[in-house]
Amino acid sequence: MDVFKDAVSRLNRLGMEAGIDLEVLQTLNYPEQTVTAALPVRMDNGRTEIFVGHRCRFNSALGPTKGGIRYHPGVTVEEVQALALWMTIKCSLANIPYGGGKGGVTVDPKSLSPMELERLSRSYMRAMVDVVGPCRDIPAPDVYTNARIMGWMADEYERIKRQKEPGVITGKPIELGGSLGRDEATGRGAYLVTRQLAQKLNWNPGDIRVALQGFGNAGYHVARLLHADGYRIVAVSDSQGAIYSEKGFDVESLYKYKQEQRKLEAVYCEGSVCSLQEHQRISNEELLELDVDLLIPAALEGVINESNASRIKAPVIVEVANGPIDSGADALLEQQGIQVLPDVLANAGGVVVSYFEWVQNRQGWAWGLEQVRERLQETLAEAFDNMWQVHKDEGVPLRNAAYAVALRRISKAISSHGTQEYFQNGEG
Ligand code: NAD
Repeated sequence: MDVFKDAVSRLNRLGMEAGIDLEVLQTLNYPEQTVTAALPVRMDNGRTEIFVGHRCRFNSALGPTKGGIRYHPGVTVEEVQALALWMTIKCSLANIPYGGGKGGVTVDPKSLSPMELERLSRSYMRAMVDVVGPCRDIPAPDVYTNARIMGWMADEYERIKRQKEPGVITGKPIELGGSLGRDEATGRGAYLVTRQLAQKLNWNPGDIRVALQGFGNAGYHVARLLHADGYRIVAVSDSQGAIYSEKGFDVESLYKYKQEQRKLEAVYCEGSVCSLQEHQRISNEELLELDVDLLIPAALEGVINESNASRIKAPVIVEVANGPIDSGADALLEQQGIQVLPDVLANAGGVVVSYFEWVQNRQGWAWGLEQVRERLQETLAEAFDNMWQVHKDEGVPLRNAAYAVALRRISKAISSHGTQEYFQNGEG
């Protein structure tokens, strides 16, 4: 099953269990709009190459659509639509005034020069200029895109519109209207909700061994903050492979070394002197199946599925990536008693601070870092509590509870727009 069909089937199942009106679910079975466009790019050798880009506005019942742009060779229109569906649930659960959207380009960004990357990003914005807008659809970074790329895209939009519109895109460089705290927001958000879950489970951080898949923006920050609280990060991976040490890694040293060498090795750095810490090389598959207390998939979707779900040993999974567990694995993990803190909450910190960035752009007022962090904490704590309440009251897993909260809010917005009651009451 493709990733979009899988996302829709899970949405329908959880929606029906939560008693969501069938008309609402039908509405959410299709995106409002998906645009696929050819993106011509002049390469450094003078030839023109055509890339393919997509942008999906999934549902705008709660506000303008919002979601990142991914650059990856595996990007497909179905993946973009699935990610846009998840954004719809995520924004609703976080109670921010946005619908869900997403974008992507099928490209290996590591194979492009910086100039080619800039031309591709500008080409994407030229193709999507009528889809996006500060009150319509607001992109942000995702896998293999970053603040610099958002800056190029914002600049291209403003050149075409011939006016400053910083609210058209979030995750920008600070100098172009980006928000303090946006770079760490996804990881910090994941850390904050993990901490709330830890309180419910009476965890002592020093006893918790963590395996982390993906050491990018989201993975690094969540690992850094958990490590600072005393959690033991015993395994880490990136696209090149995975490393394991029973003693646990010093996250800052790993990060520093990876930045310098572009590869993962276990090191301790004091000043400029780094020494190798004893560690074992393992495969990415082995990392997922380690006997640890907490597993954090923070790379790509579908890595836990029917083929490996029965071998997962961690009793708790925090989904920092989008969709790392497919719907077929949900039931298997539940049978094993594995608790999953779902992506729609665990990685919502990014879009929450993106929302703060958009608010600041519209106000023309920049907030301080502490203000951003405090409001992030308040927003996620409320979303966590709402989810937890449904989990307890209705005796359902956390993902079901998160979808129930989100879908009930969207459902109210859709029925507020609609006329069904008018016809049912028969006044006309
Ligand atoms: P990133 O590009 O910064 O990092 C991705 C990381 O995953 C890299 O370390 C890469 O080496 C690693 N990776 C790729 N393939 C892998 C594999 N097969 N096995 C192990 N590691 C692999 O991306 P990111 O922004 O950290 O995003 C990671 C996940 O978090 C994605 O699912 C993304 O949608 C989600 N997410 C990110 C944000 C955000 O604000 N950055 C917000 C919400 C959700």
